[in-house]
Amino acid sequence: MSDSIQAGIVIIGAGQAGVQTAESLRAGGYAGSITLLGDEPHGPYHRPPLSKAWLAGEMDGAQLVMRAPEMLARKQIELRTEVKVASIDRAAQQVLLADGSALPYSGLVLATGSTPRSLPLPGGNAAGVHALRSREDADAIAQRLALCLQQQRPVVVIGGGFIGLEVAATARKKGQDVTVLEAAPRLLGRVLAPALSDWYAELHRSHGVKLVFDARIEALETDSDHAVSGVRLVDGSLLPAGLVVVGIGVHANDGLAQAAGLECERGIVVDACGRSSDPAIVAAGDCTARRLADGSLIRLESVQNATEQGKSAAAALLGQERPFTATPWFWSDQYDKKLQMAGLSGGAEAWAIRGNMGGDMAGASFSIYHFRAGKLIAVDSVNAAKDHLQARKLLDAGLSPSPEQAADLGFDLGSLLK
Ligand SMILES: Cc1cc2nc3c(=O)[nH]c(=O)nc-3n(C[C@H](O)[C@H](O)[C@H](O)COP(=O)(O)OP(=O)(O)OC[C@H]3O[C@@H](n4cnc5c(N)ncnc54)[C@H](O)[C@@H]3O)c2cc1C
Repeated sequence: MSDSIQAGIVIIGAGQAGVQTAESLRAGGYAGSITLLGDEPHGPYHRPPLSKAWLAGEMDGAQLVMRAPEMLARKQIELRTEVKVASIDRAAQQVLLADGSALPYSGLVLATGSTPRSLPLPGGNAAGVHALRSREDADAIAQRLALCLQQQRPVVVIGGGFIGLEVAATARKKGQDVTVLEAAPRLLGRVLAPALSDWYAELHRSHGVKLVFDARIEALETDSDHAVSGVRLVDGSLLPAGLVVVGIGVHANDGLAQAAGLECERGIVVDACGRSSDPAIVAAGDCTARRLADGSLIRLESVQNATEQGKSAAAALLGQERPFTATPWFWSDQYDKKLQMAGLSGGAEAWAIRGNMGGDMAGASFSIYHFRAGKLIAVDSVNAAKDHLQARKLLDAGLSPSPEQAADLGFDLGSLLK
């Protein structure tokens, strides 16, 4: 592939992964043309603040910008916004744009992100029902939040995952009446240990959020203007609502790849270097499902994943091997608590808690160490940044304290790294 890349690289998706791939190509010495295509009206911007500081109105537009178009231009990366790719012609090595024009490529990067799942229920499309992915979504939610506050109408969040809980925390901070409906028996059940799920439930309750577990929703009620007015549960109860935020997960944007015949399974299947089933095409970020050495697939939706896969994908286009093998990490901000997660805790058999988790919630600072077969596999830290950074180093190095050492504040975990 490296012989033919002089003809130009096209990147579909001007988000975290697309920008990283473009910049890594330049940093890696690629001198051909790079065209970064994005279907949004904005240049690249940060998504994480959309449910946090941006939604709270604590950030200005300049802070949301990931890369100014001028900065990309200085690196000779051609950014084209409001351009939607309609299909990929692999045989002719060109992408077809929605306006009917074609753009040839020698190397193609798919960095198309993901789309929030919609609520397949009556009333799911009513005005005042929002998912949160884009800047427009966040602005619409902020506008509706202000209206609800003015009219003293409650907010219902469907889904107790990270985005739903961050929106709930932001809305509560503004004084909104907030209820979170979660279909499972606990919050963040797929990613947190039960003890941490319970701790987060307590955190939200202590801030006045109402939580409903095992929630079964029948329909969203609407008023005569087809705007949402409430959420009806199957047990017959009705929760009035002027705003419903739906945070029930995402699906990978792999439609273009599927239509082009690339291998897809819950996302565009890539190897650790971001290579797809077509040697001229790499993929990075939320749109991918990465094949691990044991043959299983992993889907991650995080800034780190988009960044690391972007670097790997760029290297692959340059004919180099740069597998993404670093420990996965993620963060979430709710109220004044920063959760930082390192590693993947699925399959943990034992846990150790380090620090102050019980009692005083305001002063909480702790980490939960997850073990499988006696080996450290993940660490979730709350307001404990030092633990998190150390955990990433331990996990990257394959080092493991015993559960007793992890729980003992008198034991210096850093000594394991020396
Ligand atoms: C509200 C919110 C909060 C988050 N908080 C955190 C957090 O705290 N920590 C964390 O690690 N992660 C967080 N994430 C996740 C993180 O933002 C994503 O994992 C990351 O943005 C993925 O980057 P990406 O480049 O794969 O996708 P995106 O950033 O979504 O970029 C993909 C781009 O491709 C465009 N596109 C798609 N199809 C086409 C097409 N056919 N033609 C042209 N363009 C197309 C899309 O419109 C989009 O602009 C959050 C996400 C959201 C929405």
